[in-house]
Amino acid sequence: MRCPYCGSPRSRVVDTRSVGAAIRRRRQCRECAQRFTTYERVAKMNLLVVKRDGRREEFDRQKLFDGILNACAKRPVSSEAIEDTVARIEMQLYALGQAEVSYRVVGETVMDELRNLDEVAYVRFASVYRHFTDLEDMKHEVDGLLAGRTS
Ligand SMILES: [Zn+2]
Repeated sequence: MRCPYCGSPRSRVVDTRSVGAAIRRRRQCRECAQRFTTYERVAKMNLLVVKRDGRREEFDRQKLFDGILNACAKRPVSSEAIEDTVARIEMQLYALGQAEVSYRVVGETVMDELRNLDEVAYVRFASVYRHFTDLEDMKHEVDGLLAGRTS
């Protein structure tokens, strides 16, 4: 669960209550101290993504799917696995319970999922998303991935 303001995965629950069929949790980000609300069940609503330049655009599931498909080009990843990944990302974004989320939160959530799905797809996506300006950044990212391997 990432903070919708800064993207940090570290938050604490300050209040929990059931609301209809859902469990609502008030959380406070441990990084930026902003408070936000999360819901256990997936609530379908209009979700706007706040872009880097401040403009809003409607969250586009198809665009997300296409982006991940591109990152997985020529990789041994089934379309079913990509569908599952998109569904998990979508669920996490809606579960934030916010009408708007920063593009950074979307990007970080996608990267979290791609890291588990396929390392090459992850680096491809990260290179576009983070706009790596030099090879050192890319090397650092790859070294980090390799160091994280358990076998
Ligand atoms: Zn935060």
